[in-house]
Amino acid sequence: MNKINIYGDYKVCIKCKDPADVIEGTKDYCIECWHDHVNNGKSFKEVDKQIKEEERFIKKKWWKITQLIKYLMKILNHLF
Ligand SMILES: [Zn+2]
Repeated sequence: MNKINIYGDYKVCIKCKDPADVIEGTKDYCIECWHDHVNNGKSFKEVDKQIKEEERFIKKKWWKITQLIKYLMKILNHLF
């Protein structure tokens, strides 16, 4: 297994001992562990799921707004 990281150094992740890609001070992390580290222990999948839920929430919100606009347009057409 090749343990040379993208910088050409021999560094290993302090958590899983995989090749480290991110050097943070004296701590080296692989990209996945670093991601977990910056996201307070949340896994890749959890963050991905969270992003998708937020997207769905925004889409739902916009759908409600467009429905409201359509409804208001209908009322306006009746008035004028
Ligand atoms: Zn790691």
